[in-house]
Amino acid sequence: MSSHYQCRKCYQIIPEDGRPNSGHCPEGSSHDWRELAEVGSTYYQCRKCFEIIDADGRPNSGYCPEGSSHDWRELAEVGSTNYQCRKCHQTIQADGRPNSGYCPEGSSHDWREL
Ligand SMILES: [Zn+2]
Ligand SMILES: [Zn+2]
Ligand SMILES: [Zn+2]
Repeated sequence: MSSHYQCRKCYQIIPEDGRPNSGHCPEGSSHDWRELAEVGSTYYQCRKCFEIIDADGRPNSGYCPEGSSHDWRELAEVGSTNYQCRKCHQTIQADGRPNSGYCPEGSSHDWREL
């Protein structure tokens, strides 16, 4: 079972099957990985830093680069239809039109089916 891990120091998020290697953290010495969520069938987006991950239930609050912890909101069920935001060009594969969410280009995403 894969999980999303986040480094407490550089905020990088990666999916990994088991705890990732500590490797080299750009913030100094090695990454300090913490588990955010198991990879799952629902997309969640952080309202503050706009990060999107596919998780099995609401992710842990983790460490938000915009301050304190992430503020996760449900975006869509994972599916097989490509939706792209006209404004920020982010693409996700969803099962039906995603929620408007929070667009880094301002207010909410403007999803179109590809
Ligand atoms: Zn790091
Ligand atoms: Zn965040
Ligand atoms: Zn957008």
